[in-house]
Amino acid sequence: MAKTCLFCNETIKGRSDKKFCDKQCRNAYNYNSTQSTENQIRSINKQLRINRSALKKACPEGKATVRKKFLKTLGMNFKYLTHTWKSNSNILYYFCYDYGYTPSVDPEKVVIIQHQNFMNK
Ligand SMILES: [Zn+2]
Repeated sequence: MAKTCLFCNETIKGRSDKKFCDKQCRNAYNYNSTQSTENQIRSINKQLRINRSALKKACPEGKATVRKKFLKTLGMNFKYLTHTWKSNSNILYYFCYDYGYTPSVDPEKVVIIQHQNFMNK
């Protein structure tokens, strides 16, 4: 079976280990895959900022218990976080920058906290 170029799908002539017809096709292919990685990173960064501002809006006083549904209406996507932090009482918080949350006893709610300096230790 004839091999086709990964970029333009034309049949490749010459060596069987070639993946592209020429340098232009290889460059164009590499450029596209870099762009798509960059776009993915950009859209994750955007979601993290949306998550952070949703948590901040829902927690103006440093600590709050709110419905997950409410955070979702503010654009929160629970899949994305920047880091985790475990409290002295072994509660794991999921952070988006300086705001974090942990599941509440009520499965429909989460407890939100704002980052404090002592958490850096
Ligand atoms: Zn090509």
